[in-house]
Amino acid sequence: MTATGVYPAKLTIREEVELAPMTTLGVGGAARYFCEPMDLPGLLEALDFGADRSLKCILLGNGSNVVVADGVVEALVVRLAGSFKTIEVDEPSGVVTAGAAAMMPALALQCAKLGYTNLNFLGGIPGTVGGGVAMNAGAHGGDISSVLEWAETVDLSGEMARQDPSTLGFGYRDSAVGGIVTGGCFRLGEKLPGTVAMDELKAQLAIRKKRQPSNPRNCGSVFKNPPEGLPAGTLIDQTNLKGFKVGGAMVSRKHANWFEVDTSATGGDVRVLISEVKEKVAAVHGIELEREVVYLPEDF
Ligand SMILES: Cc1cc2nc3c(=O)[nH]c(=O)nc-3n(C[C@H](O)[C@H](O)[C@H](O)COP(=O)(O)OP(=O)(O)OC[C@H]3O[C@@H](n4cnc5c(N)ncnc54)[C@H](O)[C@@H]3O)c2cc1C
Repeated sequence: MTATGVYPAKLTIREEVELAPMTTLGVGGAARYFCEPMDLPGLLEALDFGADRSLKCILLGNGSNVVVADGVVEALVVRLAGSFKTIEVDEPSGVVTAGAAAMMPALALQCAKLGYTNLNFLGGIPGTVGGGVAMNAGAHGGDISSVLEWAETVDLSGEMARQDPSTLGFGYRDSAVGGIVTGGCFRLGEKLPGTVAMDELKAQLAIRKKRQPSNPRNCGSVFKNPPEGLPAGTLIDQTNLKGFKVGGAMVSRKHANWFEVDTSATGGDVRVLISEVKEKVAAVHGIELEREVVYLPEDF
């Protein structure tokens, strides 16, 4: 890793920074350029740096839904930090505002402690608010789009906007957010007495713990559930793929739509496993599974 210095005065841009440790799967190579803007001016500097060099700009949240390519990713990878991690509850207005780098479980916990259950479904999703909006993260029957009041975005030319959910093209585990999410405002809903909200949050987390593989090196659901019929995990299981391996990557024996990796796994292993599982499910069931997990870069 080499430091390319400070650009122009505040933001440190580093070269060839390993991305695997910044993802839950822990596979793949390095970013050609990497930076962690602490605030909006820092982010705008990063965008200038990228534009000056015609670099592709890729946002990384908590890396819980990405497979990083092996080798060097020819891009400027940006991970928001500092002031983008703030969470501010405004009870009189009935909303909570969070920076894009705030973790969704922290957001859910802070609200549940005050008696609000509205964001409890985010409590077990190990991503950031920015990644959650980009993916329209969801669980337990809720998703981000159903609780979002507005999101703040910055496009690649530095133009800022406060966007209504109807303009963000939300779909199932998907959005049409074109630029960078810098923050979001969420409705708190009804305030419940005592520990009701915390009890519900704990119960949801317990259910998840029971269902999920214990190996932390995974990326959650690999494929989206098809719009109708059997869920992706059942289709993979019925194709007898539990335990199926490519290199150091394996279809989980506990939950077939989750893939686990060992320390030898590469980004390529995960990518090949994904395409083999997709092919085998299509051959047996005639159903084309759609990938939920994101490739970084998308064309690797
Ligand atoms: C154990 C485990 C359980 C999971 N359970 C669930 C679940 O129940 N429900 C669910 O929906 N998902 C789940 N996931 C997947 C994942 O946590 C979510 O998709 C989450 O929203 C990703 O957030 P992230 O910050 O990690 O984003 P990353 O994985 O870092 O990025 C995901 C995508 O979002 C983009 N992105 C990130 N930040 C920004 C930003 N600020 N602006 C614009 N784009 C951005 C990235 O470029 C990338 O395309 C799980 C993952 C794991 C590992």
